[in-house]
Amino acid sequence: MSSGVSLEYIENYIKSLIGESSGILKELEDYAKENSVPIVQKEVGNFLDLLINIKKPKKILELGTAIGYSSILMSLSSKNDSNITTIERNTDMVNIARQNIEKYGFKKNINLIEGDCLEVLSNLRDKYDIIFIDAGKGHYNHFLPHCLRLLEDNGIIVSDNALFRGMVASDKLVVRRKITIVKRMRKYLEMVSDNKKFITSVIPMGDGISITVRRD
Ligand code: SAH
Ligand code: MG
Repeated sequence: MSSGVSLEYIENYIKSLIGESSGILKELEDYAKENSVPIVQKEVGNFLDLLINIKKPKKILELGTAIGYSSILMSLSSKNDSNITTIERNTDMVNIARQNIEKYGFKKNINLIEGDCLEVLSNLRDKYDIIFIDAGKGHYNHFLPHCLRLLEDNGIIVSDNALFRGMVASDKLVVRRKITIVKRMRKYLEMVSDNKKFITSVIPMGDGISITVRRD
């Protein structure tokens, strides 16, 4: 089924180019599929891998750990040379992610903080080279001021689910109970697009991603 963001045959073709994962990532993907955990889509995982190879970040902040899939993917792409802080509020997810981080040997690189992103963010002081926003689609606009404060001067913010099944781009697709989330996601995209201090690119990949950097 198409994601509502891009054409199905294009998606399938791009996914076929990326190919199958193996090892740890494959195991986690299988678990996510069986248990309906919304981990990043293949294209987005591949994009994060690419970005990390370009940027070579020392410090990464992630909002939304779920089972630890994207954290582990990013840790693998940086050859365990980056430090990842990841935030998750759902206790069941936290427990599973902790198990995975331990089982696969990522305890040194991945620091999981249990709590609500908004609360945890206001207590963070470090600066990050990459911030990956993938939690609470209806709150990206509220997370943004904190993320900007925590972003290194030449840091990059990547947001997942930015087009949310296409609903963000078209009122015709919006289902009633998602109206608030959609409105707030639009607000987020306007905030990062209208501000002349930033450059933002929205890409119809996966469920839609946006990438934001500071202008020089
Ligand atoms: N980044 C993960 C997927 C995250 S799914 C991956 O690709 O592997 C989104 C997660 O965000 C869910 O587990 C959900 O419990 C969590 N979440 C949603 N709102 C949150 C909030 N306000 N604070 C912390 N976690 C939140
Ligand atoms: Mg997502």
